[in-house]
Amino acid sequence: MSDLKTIKIYCLNCRTLLYRYYKRGKGSLVKCYVDRIKNDYTAGDLRCPNCGIEFAKPRMIHGKPAYKIIGGKVFIKS
Ligand SMILES: [Zn+2]
Repeated sequence: MSDLKTIKIYCLNCRTLLYRYYKRGKGSLVKCYVDRIKNDYTAGDLRCPNCGIEFAKPRMIHGKPAYKIIGGKVFIKS
């Protein structure tokens, strides 16, 4: 678990902070496992709480509940 680091996930449209998330490894963010979300600043509806854009879809990935990020809707910072 030592390769997990905390990142911040923002809405690309309005730069609102959506999640703090424990991400594994390098590379782009294509999915969020629900149990690795550290802080959730949304209403839990996979929409930006500020501008209302839908940024992800719920999916089961490797048998775990996850949010599949919609391309071009978010950006991340370390
Ligand atoms: Zn937004």
